[in-house]
Amino acid sequence: MDYFGFDDDERVIAETAAAFADKRLAPFASEWDETHHFPTDVLREAAELGMAAVYCNEDVGGSGLRRLDGVRIFEQLATADPTVAAFLSIHNMCTWMVDTYGTPEQRKSLVPRLASMELIASYCLTEPGAGSDASALRTRAVRDGDHYVLDGVKQFISGAGASDVYVVMARTGGEGPRGISTFIVEKDTPGLSFGADEAKMGWRAQPTAQVILEGVRVPADAMLGGSDGEGTGFGIAMNGLNGGRINIAACSLGGAQAAYDKAVAYVRDREAFGGALLDEPTIRFTLADMATALETSRNLLWRAARALDENHPDKVELCAMAKRYVTDACYTVADQALQLHGGYGYLNEYGIEKIVRDLRVHRILEGTNEIMRVVIGRSQAAKVRASA
Ligand SMILES: Cc1cc2nc3c(=O)[nH]c(=O)nc-3n(C[C@H](O)[C@H](O)[C@H](O)COP(=O)(O)OP(=O)(O)OC[C@H]3O[C@@H](n4cnc5c(N)ncnc54)[C@H](O)[C@@H]3O)c2cc1C
Repeated sequence: MDYFGFDDDERVIAETAAAFADKRLAPFASEWDETHHFPTDVLREAAELGMAAVYCNEDVGGSGLRRLDGVRIFEQLATADPTVAAFLSIHNMCTWMVDTYGTPEQRKSLVPRLASMELIASYCLTEPGAGSDASALRTRAVRDGDHYVLDGVKQFISGAGASDVYVVMARTGGEGPRGISTFIVEKDTPGLSFGADEAKMGWRAQPTAQVILEGVRVPADAMLGGSDGEGTGFGIAMNGLNGGRINIAACSLGGAQAAYDKAVAYVRDREAFGGALLDEPTIRFTLADMATALETSRNLLWRAARALDENHPDKVELCAMAKRYVTDACYTVADQALQLHGGYGYLNEYGIEKIVRDLRVHRILEGTNEIMRVVIGRSQAAKVRASA
C-alpha cells in the first residue's frame, strides 16, 4: 500500500527488511522454534543492515530513520518470524532509551556497540509483584560512595542470560514513579544471575527468565542520564514503551499477514464439495473480514507511528490504541487462518500454529491490552473534562 506517499528510499527500507526476512529468517524459523535456538548471529546480520538502532541518531551509529520506517521494518521481519522480530524490537527500544536519555559519554560508549549488536540489550521493568502496576516495583538501588548497590528480582525478561547489558528500572527514592531510576548493568557484574529459561507457549526462539540482582555494585555513572537521571527512570521506561508498543503491534501485523497469505493460497488449492474452497461465499466473507482487519491495523499503526515521529500531543493514546487494536485483531486473523486450514492448520508443518502461539503474548506484554484501555480511557476522560 503506497498511498502514504513513501518515496523510493523508504520503499527500499521495507524491501530490504523483506528480503532479509525471506532469506535469513523464514527458512529457519520453525527449527529455531522447535530447538529453542536464539539466533544472535542472525540478529547481528540484521544489525549490519541498520535494524538494531533504527530510530537512533546517526552521530552514534544509529540509522536515523523514523518510527514509521521502524514499524514497516518490523512488519516485514515478522512475516518470517514474529519471535526474532519482536526481540529485535525490544533491543531497539533499549538502544533508543540510551541514545535519548544517556549522557554524552553513555551515548558514545554504548550506542555504537548496541547498533552493531556487539552488545545485545534486555529491558528489565517487570517484577514478580509488579507487572501492570510497574511503578510499584521494589528492586532497590542504594547509593554507596561512588557506586549504587542493586537488589531485587526482575520477572519475564526477554533475552535474560543471553543479553550483554540489562536496562534495569530500580528504586532510588520513595514510593511511586518518581522514586525510580534507570541503570545499565553489564552481564558479568558480580551478583547478577538469571533464573531458568521459562517454558513458553510461543516466542520459543528467545529466552525468557528472571534477572536476579543480589548486591550488584555498579558505578554511579551507570545511572542513565548520570546524576540528572535520578527519579527519571519510570518516565524513561514509559517513553520507551510508546515505541515498543507500536513495534510489537507491527510484529503482530507481519505474522497475521503471513498467516493470511498462507490461508488464501490454501483455500485456492483445496477442493471440497466439487470446487475450490475459495469459491464458497462464506469463506470469502471470512477472507473479507481478515483483509479488512489487516488493512485497518496497518492504517492505525502507521498513524500512531507518525504521531510519535511528530511528537503529536495524542501520541501516547494513539500508540496504546494501535497496540490494543492491532495485537487483538491480528491474533484473530492468525486464528482464522488456522481455521481455514482445517486440521492441517493444527500441524506445525504448515507454519500457522506457530504464528498463533507467537502472537498470543503480544496481547499481554509491553502493557496488557487491558492496561492499554486504561491509558486510552484516561486520555478520553481528560479530554471530556477539559472540554466541559
Ligand atoms: C514472554 C514474555 C516476555 C516478556 N518480556 C518482558 C521484558 O523483556 N521486560 C519486562 O520488563 N517485562 C516483560 N514481560 C512482562 C510483561 O510485560 C507482563 O507480563 C505484563 O506487563 C503483565 O504483568 P503481569 O504478568 O504481572 O500481569 P498482572 O499485572 O498481574 O495482570 C493480570 C491480569 O489483570 C489485568 N489487569 C491488571 N491491572 C488491571 C487494571 N487496572 N484494569 C484492568 N485489568 C487489569 C491484566 O491485564 C491481566 O489480564 C514479558 C512477559 C512475557 C509473558
